[in-house]
Amino acid sequence: MIYLDYSATTPVDKSVIESYSKACERFIGNPNSLHKLGVEAKEVIDASTKQIAELLHVKASEIIYTSGATESNNTVIKGIASKYSNRGKHIISTELEHSSIIGPLNYLANNGYEVDFVKLNKDGKIDLEDLKSKLRDDTILVSISSVNSEIGIKQPLKEIRKILDDYPKCFFHSDMTQSLGKEEVDLSIVDFASFSAQKFYGMKGIGLLYKKEKIAIEPLLHGGKSTTIYRAGTPALPLIVSVAKALRLAYEDFNTKYKKVEELNEYLRDKLSLLEVDINSPIDAIPHILNFSLRGIKSETMLHALEKDDIYISTQTACSVGDYSRAVYAITEDKERSSTSMRVSISYKTTKEEIDTFTECLKKRIEELKK
Ligand code: PMP
Repeated sequence: MIYLDYSATTPVDKSVIESYSKACERFIGNPNSLHKLGVEAKEVIDASTKQIAELLHVKASEIIYTSGATESNNTVIKGIASKYSNRGKHIISTELEHSSIIGPLNYLANNGYEVDFVKLNKDGKIDLEDLKSKLRDDTILVSISSVNSEIGIKQPLKEIRKILDDYPKCFFHSDMTQSLGKEEVDLSIVDFASFSAQKFYGMKGIGLLYKKEKIAIEPLLHGGKSTTIYRAGTPALPLIVSVAKALRLAYEDFNTKYKKVEELNEYLRDKLSLLEVDINSPIDAIPHILNFSLRGIKSETMLHALEKDDIYISTQTACSVGDYSRAVYAITEDKERSSTSMRVSISYKTTKEEIDTFTECLKKRIEELKK
């Protein structure tokens, strides 16, 4: 099997599963129980949160546990909208966002909020002048992902922060789901950031929301006491322990792993340049994602053809809707190209041999499907 869909989800690291299962067996108490099993469970959670916070260079009190980035994104967007509606009802985002951003934005747009999308330059980065022109006194939130999940386009978060410094009443959120564990993340420049453990070899079903201390939001889930007041429910101790483990592993040999992916990306680009495909990912995209379009072959047809070779890649993202890629269309304005786009996402675990086999099979399948 050749797995080239690491941006959809990563296989859970064996030692993360071990941490999870040991935590399940050893710490049976509810961290909110007052007896010693509860106290012990609370200490374990606090220690894990401290580790996560240290790795992210933030305070432990700034970490909110969620079920994944979808919930983190919904929590910030709806939480800001409802808490600050008296301040304004204007939100700015981009066409490149994941469906878990676009979904809550559409919901708000249908409920009296105004959502504006910033123009994109040809390379997919946002047009900073357009952002400046769209910001208003009633803008309460700017939500722009650090890395787009389909093409890997990186956004200039530092420059966006500088612009937003003139708008102290407007919060800045970034969906960093495709960044954490792959590239350095700088949380000092944002007010909120979303993450999902399943993207860095952690378990499915746990995400993080970074929320700058002192900013209040309306919780999405109201209810009983948890690790913070922003998300009710009994804290998921084993998942929290496992996310700390996954993050520690992600930061081990970080630069070596990044460099390897960079080399693999270059190797893959060279191989693809010999085939009848158009590469959509700009050269400065994150090296873990390479998006290209086939000429005259539907991406879904190719996906299933490669499946017969036991090779797994994506068309658009696993969570997008519709039969063309919104992100590829946003930068190419070409319907044909955006309905034939494929995403290969690689990891430091990927080998050159896997890339050789993939490109050979792709060549064979292109010839076959063109006939
Ligand atoms: N944002 C981005 C950029 C993603 O890639 C994903 C996962 N495809 C999500 C949010 C949603 O993450 P989850 O499925 O863990 O909720």
